Amino acid sequence: MTHTEDSISPSTFHLFLENFKLKLKEVYSELSNTDYITTTRGIPALVLKEIIPLNPLAVIISKEYGGISGKIDENLLMTSAAAYESLAFSLTLGINSALFLQPVTKFAKEEIKKKVFNGFLNEKKMGGLMITEPDFGSDALNMRTFFTKSDTHFQLKGTKHWAGLTGFANYWLLTAREQTENGQLKRDLDFFICDTDASDQQIVVEEYFDNLGLHHIPYGRNRIDVKIPTQQRLDPKTTGINVLLDTLHRSRLQFPAMGLGFIQRMMDEAILHCKQRSIGGKSLFTYDQVQYRLARLQSYFTICSAMCAYSSKNAGLEKDLSTCGIEANSFKTIATDMMQDAAQSLVQLVGAKAYRYSHIGGRGIIDSRPFQIFEGSNDILYAQISEGIIKLMKQKNETNPFLFLSEYIHTKQAALLVKEQLDFNINLQLNQRKQIEFGKIISRIISIEMVINIGNSNFRKDLVSNSIAMLQTEISGLIGNFKQIEFTNVIEDYKENSSWYKNF
Ligand SMILES: Cc1cc2nc3c(=O)[nH]c(=O)nc-3n(C[C@H](O)[C@H](O)[C@H](O)COP(=O)(O)OP(=O)(O)OC[C@H]3O[C@@H](n4cnc5c(N)ncnc54)[C@H](O)[C@@H]3O)c2cc1C
Repeated sequence: MTHTEDSISPSTFHLFLENFKLKLKEVYSELSNTDYITTTRGIPALVLKEIIPLNPLAVIISKEYGGISGKIDENLLMTSAAAYESLAFSLTLGINSALFLQPVTKFAKEEIKKKVFNGFLNEKKMGGLMITEPDFGSDALNMRTFFTKSDTHFQLKGTKHWAGLTGFANYWLLTAREQTENGQLKRDLDFFICDTDASDQQIVVEEYFDNLGLHHIPYGRNRIDVKIPTQQRLDPKTTGINVLLDTLHRSRLQFPAMGLGFIQRMMDEAILHCKQRSIGGKSLFTYDQVQYRLARLQSYFTICSAMCAYSSKNAGLEKDLSTCGIEANSFKTIATDMMQDAAQSLVQLVGAKAYRYSHIGGRGIIDSRPFQIFEGSNDILYAQISEGIIKLMKQKNETNPFLFLSEYIHTKQAALLVKEQLDFNINLQLNQRKQIEFGKIISRIISIEMVINIGNSNFRKDLVSNSIAMLQTEISGLIGNFKQIEFTNVIEDYKENSSWYKNF
């Protein structure tokens, strides 16, 4: 009998969740009372001893394979619960689910899936994804890790770095391009399951990195020189690039779950602090700017909730998400920008006490920062959102953003709420800085649409109206930027005649 069967009844996900939340709270309260958080790297022993035995990764594996769920909404709930206590632990679950188990579930061969899932359920194994290389990060499709094939296996060679759970995960999804006989690399890429417990599949960690935050997750540089049995290649159905897009878009659509738990914690901590702190003879909570900051945090909470509601219905494994770049990139960019801003706001409100790694706000700034960089740098993703919309506008021969967005599926209702600001004509040949501003505007309008949709359910109406008001204000500011943005370029030889001292 598996651990899952004897400890968690498949029909009792909510019981599991309550138990999981209690355990997380207990463990992370204990850890924050020690210097463990500030001094130790790697997943804390207490987490491995107390939380991992609850088998959270069984939530990502369907009942058919002995797991407890496989449902996207339950995964989102679990991820948020983890992020409330620890962003690093939540990301650990996210790496295992979105970057390993979900693509394996969707694209791996049956016999391999059974073996891998068994390892997760019964031996507490973990998995991650290696795409990034020292010279190819944002430009990942030009990666140099290559493979050659024989009758029984694929031989992979290359260098990968910054993969979450470096040196710790038992399984890796490795990405590589096929080398042809004349030594050229093909354009497409492939995914291979590497089982580091098997001979010929060990990955050498050449260096561990001193990552600034997320200390619980090991990162480093890996030398890849492995022989992978043929059946461990993922079956792309169409192309490897489509597997990559489907996987990354599904992952990006799940970012709001991490955002939700993390932002809720920042908000709860900020409200608690401001209620308790008295400054100038009155409660900090009553100052107008403080109320503005807290209301903004609450709006972020609402936006993440609304995006989770959307993803719970639209990001399941049965969907092909390879063409869903506009929604996925919008969710990822805005969720991660809100996470960083939420942590910054908490630190601002708490003041000097929060300027410590041991404080959840100080740590939150550092831990949430790379979310704006990994799985697509936000600058690039905002530009891609913009490119996607401009392409559709060109197809419709439309230059007025309001007229286009009032018919576009993800902005139909929202466009009406920002009609005045959007009702102008744009030059569809945008330079990159304008593209990025336009992408930010689109992602916020999509957020309004999501908030309107959640407002049509039983979700609290006051949270919905406050959030829409906040987003409208933000969009007005962004449209101002978009219209006014300067075309100044950097002056490279700026050191000549630029000292105030000599020229004063
Ligand atoms: C904490 C953390 C966890 C990570 N986890 C993983 C993981 O699990 N697996 C994995 O494979 N990788 C992972 N990564 C790597 C991550 O995906 C890359 O760092 C990311 O893709 C950016 O690549 P890069 O760092 O090489 O930066 P570069 O590609 O050099 O880009 C740096 C910056 O240049 C700018 N830029 C780049 N291209 C353009 C452009 N076309 N237009 C305008 N500006 C541009 C952007 O501002 C960008 O942020 C992780 C990284 C971090 C920090």
